[in-house]
Amino acid sequence: MQKAFSYRFYPTTEQESLLRRTLGCVRLVYNRALAARTEAWYERKERLDYVQTSALLTQWKKQDDLQFLNEVSSVPLQQALRHLQSAFTNFFAGRAKYPNFKKKRNGGSAEFTKSAFRWKDGKVFLAKCNEPLNIRWSRRLPDGVEPSTVTIRLNPAGQWYISLRFDDPRDLTLQPVDPSVGLDVGMSSLITLSTGEKIANPKHFNRYYKRLRKAQRSLSRKQKGSRNWDKARLKVAKIHQKISDSRKDHLHQLTTRLIRENQTIVIESLAVKNMVKNRQLARSISDAGWGELVRQLEYKAQWYGRTLVKIDRWFPSSKRCGQCGHIVERLPLSVREWDCPKCGAHHDRDINAAGNILAVGHTVTVCGAGVRPDRHTSKGQLRRSRKSQK
Ligand SMILES: [Zn+2]
Repeated sequence: MQKAFSYRFYPTTEQESLLRRTLGCVRLVYNRALAARTEAWYERKERLDYVQTSALLTQWKKQDDLQFLNEVSSVPLQQALRHLQSAFTNFFAGRAKYPNFKKKRNGGSAEFTKSAFRWKDGKVFLAKCNEPLNIRWSRRLPDGVEPSTVTIRLNPAGQWYISLRFDDPRDLTLQPVDPSVGLDVGMSSLITLSTGEKIANPKHFNRYYKRLRKAQRSLSRKQKGSRNWDKARLKVAKIHQKISDSRKDHLHQLTTRLIRENQTIVIESLAVKNMVKNRQLARSISDAGWGELVRQLEYKAQWYGRTLVKIDRWFPSSKRCGQCGHIVERLPLSVREWDCPKCGAHHDRDINAAGNILAVGHTVTVCGAGVRPDRHTSKGQLRRSRKSQK
């Protein structure tokens, strides 16, 4: 099974200089190739592919003004062209927007395949570096594995990370268990489980948000491009990073627990971008980091042999009475608790919704459709259920 573990690392001054130049070259090659492909299409109706951009790179390396491209490892530059190729593939398949130019202030990344790094005694030596990287090993790699690819990443807060991709030969399948659970994005909490449990954001989040707002205000008062603006921007980026790190930690604990305790987990496949249109929900969705939650559940379900069922977001999970199946016409977002007009059951909005999600998940599992996290199956499921509601 393919896995990637990510670690913070601390480059020496020389390494940092080389890595920053490498990221600069990756960015330049990516942006130039993107410009060339765009121009070829709009001016000559030609589609350039990876091979043609690779030939362009060979030419650029011979140009006098681009000699610095030869000073860094050539592998990340080739990889950048491959990434651009998949960005276009995704664009043409309608899965993604047109690729964007990479910006320096967003940090950047460089991918080193096997030929561009050495793995020796648990240490990583990058091409053109004599010393190994000083990695903070927050978790062990499984015994005997060797990374096949390493990716170096600089985040907007100026921190360095390395991600090691490797093939994990272990079978991590857990003993089957009985329980299954439905999850709903809570209005009043981060996530609500069909068991009635509500999971809140970590307490310190509010403190971070206050600091973030203060830092953003301070940034908005600085003159764009000035030194102070740069400092203020870095400060904002650092707080963002802190929030995202602590959200990830929190979600890791939660998803690991959910996967251990349940055989099947049912969620709504929320299209976050659509949800965010609803301003009242926007804050709670972005707080919740729903996308990150789904991502973690997806790969952990795969690793540990559990089932993740995604159901259509058009299923009226909130408006349906979990007791008798009656669907109420309106349930404004402000309503936290309600009574079913048909059977009289009293509902907590979020817990009732999570229960309904679990119930739909069961029918999906029983019908044998969409047992695996398969987008298409679950989409079809949703549309059908949506039509039948009308
Ligand atoms: Zn009812």
